[in-house]
Amino acid sequence: MTRPPDIVAELSAALGDGVVVSDPDILRTFATDQARLCPAGAPAALVRPRSTADVSTVLQAASLAGVPVVPQGARTGLAGGANAVDGCLLLNLGRMDRILSIDPAEQLAVVQPGVVNADLSRAAAEQGLFYPPDPASWETSTIGGNVATNAGGLCCLKYGVTGDFVRALEVVLADGTVQRTGRATAKGVAGYDLTHLFVGSEGTLGVITEVTLALRPSPAPARTAVSFFPDATMACAAVNDVLALGVRPSMLELMDEATVRVVSRYRDVGLPEGTGAILIVQSDDAGTAVADLEVFVRVSRQQGATEALVAEDDAEAALLVEARRLVGPAHEALGAELVDDVCVPRARLADLLTGVARIEEQHGVLVTCAGHAGDGNMHPSVVFDPLDDAMVARAHAAFGAIMRLGLDLGGTITGEHGVGLLKRDWLEAELGPAGLAAHRAVKASLDPRNILNPGKVLPPG
Ligand SMILES: Cc1cc2nc3c(=O)[nH]c(=O)nc-3n(C[C@H](O)[C@H](O)[C@H](O)COP(=O)(O)OP(=O)(O)OC[C@H]3O[C@@H](n4cnc5c(N)ncnc54)[C@H](O)[C@@H]3O)c2cc1C
Repeated sequence: MTRPPDIVAELSAALGDGVVVSDPDILRTFATDQARLCPAGAPAALVRPRSTADVSTVLQAASLAGVPVVPQGARTGLAGGANAVDGCLLLNLGRMDRILSIDPAEQLAVVQPGVVNADLSRAAAEQGLFYPPDPASWETSTIGGNVATNAGGLCCLKYGVTGDFVRALEVVLADGTVQRTGRATAKGVAGYDLTHLFVGSEGTLGVITEVTLALRPSPAPARTAVSFFPDATMACAAVNDVLALGVRPSMLELMDEATVRVVSRYRDVGLPEGTGAILIVQSDDAGTAVADLEVFVRVSRQQGATEALVAEDDAEAALLVEARRLVGPAHEALGAELVDDVCVPRARLADLLTGVARIEEQHGVLVTCAGHAGDGNMHPSVVFDPLDDAMVARAHAAFGAIMRLGLDLGGTITGEHGVGLLKRDWLEAELGPAGLAAHRAVKASLDPRNILNPGKVLPPG
């Protein structure tokens, strides 16, 4: 069997200049994603392919040698999925970043995996088209990474997640075989749905080298409203009432009291002090937006909002959306945080928020709660001091308790960030033994030597 240094030399010769990098400083930079408390191993090399043929060459060699391969996009992942494992090749797809076509008639885009989400969105908009999946990382994360994690975002409530837009894929399998799945047509049911087996597979089943995506006509400019509540339970009741009345907002976000405090300390965007919870809503339906927001304001007041109003102009609307987008940077400024990602049935949203408050008290760590209330998908963030070992342990325990709570409420441990390393040991609690065994069987059939992102998603054993 070839050892890692040999395969590095072999690939350097086969792939030409500038593709294989073994500078230790660069390797260290590429060894992790954005997740906290996830271990990373020491990679043997970073490989930055320019083509599907390069990817195939890498996987063929790695498969023969039994060397692990960790696919990477922009490393914005929050689950440690792109972290290096010892002796691996980091296969970073960032250089395969071409939009191959945008077809206004078919409303389709064909892209390489390293295309940044926002670049595709802007290119589609220039042709009057819309690519809806909009993770908050959209200015940096790649379409390949978005497909591999089945990323969500702010407007998924109305439009769906990344997987809902994936029509076809080109995937390089563990042994280097190039496989096409799905089709460009609007309909097609021949055979198993292999496309959506690879969607969300977090680099463990194949390397995505081309993606065919459905687009939509551009929507009308969104209108925005906000409401302020004395507590989060009232805000959750308003979320359920608004949606039960048939309104389909393009965004419905909640920030709890602790989140408002953290954001306001980071930047004053005019959020009233002492607010128990905020809902920010948008509607982009040209025909119903005004009526949608009227319903939102009325329902919010009925559920006890101290204030509920429609943004008067674009500047006011932008400020409200900015308040929501500042949640990430404001938390980063606090030090370390573990971002959870539980998703529960909407009817249990209030139970999730009160349960998280209880967990915060029990474990003596700050836990803020913001997220996509319309989807029941919240991001409780456990804030801790990484230099305080006792606090790190309490943060870990709180993080686990939040996932247990999500499951007990009939939800999932991850609505959009994925399992990676961070939640791997929780997967069986959600899938059960039979579900986990089926996952292992799929993995073994597509990657019998376990070279693709080993140790991620599936617990060892
Ligand atoms: C500030 C911030 C905000 C975020 N907001 C959101 C949000 O709103 N919604 C959301 O869902 N996520 C969000 N995320 C998480 C992250 O941005 C997403 O998971 C994103 O889809 C990762 O894309 P990436 O290109 O960075 O992939 P990476 O982090 O590099 O990789 C993610 C996973 O995909 C695999 N992978 C990457 N490329 C390929 C490929 N071509 N073939 C096979 N496997 C591959 C990797 O092995 C890894 O397991 C956020 C992260 C940050 C830092």
